[in-house]
Amino acid sequence: MRVSIICTGTELLKGTTVNTNLAFLGQQLAEIGIVPFRALVVGDSAADMRQALEAAATDSELIITTGGLGPTRDDLTRNAVCDFLGLKLKRDFSIVDDLERRWAKRYSTVAREDYLTQADVPENSTVLKNRIGTAPGLWVKGKVQIILLPGPPHELNPMFQNEAMPLLKKLAVKMTFTAGFMIASISELIVQDKIEPLVKGLPISLAYCASIEGVKVFLSGEDKDLVREKAAEAAKLFGDAVLADNRLAVVPEVFERLKKSGYTLGIAESCTGGMIAAAITDLPGASQVFKGAIVSYSNAVKNKLLDIPQPILDNCGAVSRECVEAMVQGAAKNLEANAAIAVSGIAGPEGGTAEKPVGTVHIAAFLQGEIITENYVFPGSRESIRERAKIRALLLLRQLLMKKNRYRVIL
Ligand code: ATP
Repeated sequence: MRVSIICTGTELLKGTTVNTNLAFLGQQLAEIGIVPFRALVVGDSAADMRQALEAAATDSELIITTGGLGPTRDDLTRNAVCDFLGLKLKRDFSIVDDLERRWAKRYSTVAREDYLTQADVPENSTVLKNRIGTAPGLWVKGKVQIILLPGPPHELNPMFQNEAMPLLKKLAVKMTFTAGFMIASISELIVQDKIEPLVKGLPISLAYCASIEGVKVFLSGEDKDLVREKAAEAAKLFGDAVLADNRLAVVPEVFERLKKSGYTLGIAESCTGGMIAAAITDLPGASQVFKGAIVSYSNAVKNKLLDIPQPILDNCGAVSRECVEAMVQGAAKNLEANAAIAVSGIAGPEGGTAEKPVGTVHIAAFLQGEIITENYVFPGSRESIRERAKIRALLLLRQLLMKKNRYRVIL
């Protein structure tokens, strides 16, 4: 299916807002085997929006727009799309009721007319519920199908996943079926080299999405059984590196392993400053596993709260195997957890030495008394070093968990 995306908002062109909606939509669509072939960004101008719609409609079956659905004067998308498709707007009174209720709750007065324009729905359209904000999304059917989504990511993301994706899957499923899995710790090129011979000559297309966590692989094709069979074969090539249960992210996979095995987790963090704890507590039900984290940035805190012996800090330094080994034991003991991870490193940009350059990170994982450690010199910015340290620490704990309890990969 040929899909174009049009993102509207002058703030995207000025660079004051990063266009995360485009990345999100690309990732979501890839999961159902759709790679948009064009994306346009236009400012808040009816003429520019019209031009973008005309360009996209020449060769797209579906256009997805983001932004410009709100009640302010710069929100032009709904009218631009109606003008372009020659459709009239009709007020939807069930949306009016909802808007009036929201307005009355907030201001205790009668809703303004311009606020109610958000209830104007083009003919031939399906309303996509906005459970977070006010402006509903719309799926408009004209000479080309157009999905209109709101700009704020916290509104767009759930709307797209919950309202638009099920409809899109029905539409796309006629053409393609997609199976995906995620491989941690193996480079994209190696993944490609191993998988491509498997599907050579078959009506299956491959898409890869590489990140700090690993490589997501998506196989798509019209023959559902063939796609499934080849995806399972492909996943097998990477053994334990494939995340279980079709998961496409490391944090929830490791969390699920801990939960299923009844382990409790304690964390000792230095250079990651609580990022691992934040990632775990982002997950609903975190309390079933997570005991707590000690963010031990200074040596004094490492010594006082994690019982790191002073000679280790003095002789080996805080960024050392000896220190993370002691940290992980301190975390397990003091937080009363049977699984633990510890991270200590130099995230930079300053603080590196010839012996321990910026990017040096020591990691330890602990499971019921067993400890393993790793050390890395990560490339990149402070942000990327910290992010890599977070993921590697969880993957190290995963290694210990895999030894104790194996999960089958189900595709
Ligand atoms: P609202 O009712 O809030 O006006 P809207 O659908 O009209 O919603 P916009 O006004 O275009 O959306 O954008 C609202 C905010 O959403 C922007 O200020 C920006 O912070 C964010 N936003 C818009 N488009 C994007 C995008 N492509 N990526 C990331 N954030 C975006």
